[in-house]
Amino acid sequence: MIYQRSSALFAEAKKYIPGGVNSPVRAFKAVGGDPIFVKKAKGAYLYDEDGNKLIDYIASWGPLILGHAYEPVINAVVEKAQNGTSFGMPTEIETELAKLAISMVPNMDKIRFVNSGTEACMSAVRLARGFTGKDKIIKFAGCYHGHSDSFLIQAGSGAVTFGSPNSPGVTQGTAKDTLLADYNDLAGVKELVAANKGELAAIIIEPIAGNMGCIVPSDSFMKGLRELCTQEGILLIFDEVMTGFRLAKGGAQEVLDIKADIVTYGKVIGGGLPVGAFAARTEIMDFLAPDGPVYQAGTLSGNPLAMSAGLAMLTELNNNPEVFKSLADKAEYLHKGIAKVLTEKKVTHQINRYGSMISVHFTDAPVIDFASSAKGNNETFKKYFHGMLERGIYLPPSAFESYFLNDALSYEDLDATINALKEIEF
Ligand code: PMP
Repeated sequence: MIYQRSSALFAEAKKYIPGGVNSPVRAFKAVGGDPIFVKKAKGAYLYDEDGNKLIDYIASWGPLILGHAYEPVINAVVEKAQNGTSFGMPTEIETELAKLAISMVPNMDKIRFVNSGTEACMSAVRLARGFTGKDKIIKFAGCYHGHSDSFLIQAGSGAVTFGSPNSPGVTQGTAKDTLLADYNDLAGVKELVAANKGELAAIIIEPIAGNMGCIVPSDSFMKGLRELCTQEGILLIFDEVMTGFRLAKGGAQEVLDIKADIVTYGKVIGGGLPVGAFAARTEIMDFLAPDGPVYQAGTLSGNPLAMSAGLAMLTELNNNPEVFKSLADKAEYLHKGIAKVLTEKKVTHQINRYGSMISVHFTDAPVIDFASSAKGNNETFKKYFHGMLERGIYLPPSAFESYFLNDALSYEDLDATINALKEIEF
């Protein structure tokens, strides 16, 4: 495929935008080469500025679970836009989306909308600190909770892809309140909690991690975390920005059968428009301004276009929950197909998958935490990524990212993907 125009557009963008992109992972730094500039997208396909058609496994990093330009979402946004794009005043649709989201998730009483996953996680931690009166939090190496200061401590996703999991610009004062544990290591968490007894506000975790590839927690680890938090009066925050409304109506809380104290959302809940949210039971949420002392706000929060996209998306998922099974079936089919080809080619690999999240790691040991994920061979990954891209398959441009399947993908698309892999020489 030819990517001439994309390269020219990238060169132009670099003159005016740092690195030519407005979010680092898009820049292809980990895999080399120039990023693809999108012209439009429909269903499972991207159409780029050079006229190529690509099968998309990112779906805007998760939100477009039913495919690009999904008609009910587009219609809702277009209709809403006719009546004004922002008011900074309450609108009925905010309550409609809040009511629906809460009804789909088992144990949340109230939800507040923000504009991104970053804001959701940042606000959730502030709320946890305000509610408990404690300062410290525990996060897990390789988990990404957005780019707010407290989380850029051994962060996953682009932060690790670009070698800055601990970013300059985060003060020592902030960093000292974020303690670090290893994913799937309950004993390590217990030690940290014991060493900081009475000082912890929250433990924040991606309940199924997606920012160091897809990593599934062991049952005992998650149950143990829940018990520990309850015993010690620490709030358990599930960052469901990726998993929320993707794995099931009730997200990871439902599929893992674990209840968190605060849950953050992003991606699917906004149907492809900028929306994040955080939710909890009433006694916690009532700590927020204007009723409570913890301040949190946003000029465009609850924006009518964003709310209408989210409402259309969640309505579809609520009415057709079989979509979650359909997606998981497709991911399993892809998993088996990729595994078979790589095995036949004698390429050492691991594939991790949960529901419609999946990642391929070129390493011989199981990938269960950040350290094992980081052992993946990036040279093999580059061959894989570019080999697929040349054949019109758009995968995440870093081994630390998970694929997000969308339900517009057909089994023919999955077969085309597996066949493309067959042609690659490793
Ligand atoms: N939490 C998780 C688990 C994420 O994957 C992301 C983004 N990929 C975020 C938070 C931050 O969301 P946003 O990029 O919308 O700020």
